[in-house]
Amino acid sequence: MAKLLMEQLTKTFDNKAMAVENFNLTVEDEEFIVFVGPSGCGKSTTLRMIAGLEDISSGTFSIDGKKMNEVEPKDRDIAMVFQNYALYPHMTVYENMAFSLKLKGMPKAEIKERVRNAAEILGLMDYLNRKPKALSGGQRQRVALGRAIVRDAKLFLMDEPLSNLDSKLRVQMRTEISKLHQRLKTTTIYVTHDQTEAMTMATRIVIMKDGVIQQVGTPKEVYDQPDNVFVAGFIGSPAMNFFNGRIEGNYFVMGQTKLLIPDSALPEGLDNQEVIIGLRPEHITHKPEKDQSTVEVNLDVVELMGSEYMVYATLEGHSFVGRVDANLNLSAGTVFPMAFEMDKARFFDPTTEKRIK
Ligand code: ATP
Repeated sequence: MAKLLMEQLTKTFDNKAMAVENFNLTVEDEEFIVFVGPSGCGKSTTLRMIAGLEDISSGTFSIDGKKMNEVEPKDRDIAMVFQNYALYPHMTVYENMAFSLKLKGMPKAEIKERVRNAAEILGLMDYLNRKPKALSGGQRQRVALGRAIVRDAKLFLMDEPLSNLDSKLRVQMRTEISKLHQRLKTTTIYVTHDQTEAMTMATRIVIMKDGVIQQVGTPKEVYDQPDNVFVAGFIGSPAMNFFNGRIEGNYFVMGQTKLLIPDSALPEGLDNQEVIIGLRPEHITHKPEKDQSTVEVNLDVVELMGSEYMVYATLEGHSFVGRVDANLNLSAGTVFPMAFEMDKARFFDPTTEKRIK
């Protein structure tokens, strides 16, 4: 069991601005939580406060109801996996995995069993006698995971564990870590700046910016119902498109362009108000039938992605990207009717950047 509670967690370094501000989060047992956000948003600092590697300036962190603020890192029953693996170069894979158990004074036979179990799970049985320098990046990362697994800790913390791997291996290890979590069910907090990792691995995502949580939700919630422009733009690849304009009756109007908003999607009380609308690339596409939300645009760039094109164009000064079926035979410079699926539009307040609808 490991239920975590973070209440008003705050971190200030020296006299500088707050690195983490009023961080509130409850993590249920067995969850896989991902902290995601741009560089410097405070995700590693938060993780390090949980690990006990960084003092908490104010606020409370507890595990299963026990306040942990003053508890030594070694007594927190947490296993951490770092970006640089932090393996001991002079020890074999076996010794690396066994090290923390030896320190605890665990009997040799039990250490052997635990290390072999972890090595089986991670496909490391053939490498137990090798030193880290004789391993590939992916294998080293597995040893680092193995060191966490053998400890049978309450909580796994992982700080960008895949960022030193090439992109193919990263995708493979991503799946392995997800499978490992399904098998062991250990509560995990995983830090990354990569929204794809967050979307594919998390049970819930915590999106941070400038030390402040922007939204907490399942991957689907943060994708479909982003709380603000930042989250909407950060989650999703290619990113959501944004257009500034105003609502006039049933239309979204920008410059000479008018797009019909279906009644069901029209936000109330915004007639004649400025808004930002957000449309995902998959919602700017091609439809055989033209209607009042179809616009002829000049295609600036057309990228073939296999089964579909990414088409880049500009509308009333706003660059955007849409997705079109590859059967259509498009090229740059073509004037092409793009359908804006306004029933899928998200509406944001241009001042606060919060979502209205
Ligand atoms: P990255 O993805 O680049 O690792 P991050 O989101 O993990 O970024 P943190 O490392 O948590 O961000 O840093 C948050 C803020 O705190 C940054 O502005 C950073 O410069 C500052 N910071 C981090 N560690 C220290 C430190 N030891 N002393 C002073 N400032 C620090």
